[in-house]
Amino acid sequence: MSASLRPLAPGESSLRLEKLSLGVGDRFGHQAGAQLRACMLASRAGVAVIPVWNKSNREHGIVGSEPSAVRAAADRAVRELGWRQSYHVDADHITLRTVDRFIPACDFYTLDVADAIGKPASTADSAMFLARHPELAGRVPVPGIDGGLEISPQALRDIAQRFLYPVQEAGRIYRYVADHRNGAGFIPEISMDETDAPQTPAELLVILAAIADERIPIQTIAPKFTGRFNKGVDYVGDVAEFEACFRGDLAVVAYAIRHYALPANLKLSVHSGSDKFSIYGPMRGAIRDFGAGIHLKTAGTTWLEELIGLAEAGGDGLALAQEIYAEAWAHRDALCAPYASVIDIDAGRLPAPAEVSAWTPEQYVAALRHDQSNPAYNRDLRQLLHVGYKIAANMGRRYLDALDRYEESISRNVTLNLWERHISPLFLGD
Ligand SMILES: [Zn+2]
Repeated sequence: MSASLRPLAPGESSLRLEKLSLGVGDRFGHQAGAQLRACMLASRAGVAVIPVWNKSNREHGIVGSEPSAVRAAADRAVRELGWRQSYHVDADHITLRTVDRFIPACDFYTLDVADAIGKPASTADSAMFLARHPELAGRVPVPGIDGGLEISPQALRDIAQRFLYPVQEAGRIYRYVADHRNGAGFIPEISMDETDAPQTPAELLVILAAIADERIPIQTIAPKFTGRFNKGVDYVGDVAEFEACFRGDLAVVAYAIRHYALPANLKLSVHSGSDKFSIYGPMRGAIRDFGAGIHLKTAGTTWLEELIGLAEAGGDGLALAQEIYAEAWAHRDALCAPYASVIDIDAGRLPAPAEVSAWTPEQYVAALRHDQSNPAYNRDLRQLLHVGYKIAANMGRRYLDALDRYEESISRNVTLNLWERHISPLFLGD
């Protein structure tokens, strides 16, 4: 527990995230309305899905945008479309070093402590944690996990050694945000997903106990799950193994809410890297069985729909989409470097720019659109374009003007993609 521990101020976390929420990303600030329309379709189908516009510090840096612009776009969309439910703007993956400019604009904070994993807490803090939590050593009877969780005293020490410090760091960021929000409520999330090793349900339980000790009223937690979450393409890994771990995590979250007095609406946040279609079904079944909520971040998928909308429009729109591919191909090494751990591109399957420049709208769309039943779908091209938004950012006004000119085909694709391929399968079922 950190020395600066203090009780929550009244109203400090008065905002409450609803059961089902969708983290959407809008790289260039033009699609908030189209994204909101997808949530309105869910509403009409009887399911409340709350939009959360998230944009990471890294993405702001690459695009050259500010958090205030995300807030403005979200507010405008909500006003223009008459959305009456809640919505939020997420300071995604922030740290103490990067959080300041998000504070006036954001009411959701993803406290990223992945880099702190493995840094040891002080011996005194570790000893205090272990003394406080004898119940975590041995068999922990977590309902929903057959036989409960078995955590040996040594394993507990090891887990505390690895995760106590990152949780303390989350506490520092949390208190910093609380102090600077001047009493305005916000939703805290803790993310540990951008690291090498997935966290097990046992680790998640220890982490949640430490978070409760640190008095961070988190409403969502983003562990790293088993398998690969490559950008823009489907899950790679053993779906059955994912489902077992995911159900274990749901059981742990429910148990931790009861035993450590964490917020009753605490839920898992899945940083999907977009489009993890093959695990939507298992996730839907699991949250239904547990009566749990979920927050799904699927941000980059929207930028690819902008490209699809441009290509589909033909003419200058198609030419621009072709040019972006050619530039992305030429700069593929530099574009891929910051995302190396979350993409798997087979360079041999990337079409040459000259070939793409000869494509019809239908060919471009078929290669890019995430329809795995289409033999022309190319997951390597899709991943490259997913990380290629910097090319469009560098085009500046020219790209933004094209978004305006081809707004009809773009927004139609943005809405349909979120509704048909994400919201429906995850939140509604077939
Ligand atoms: Zn993430």
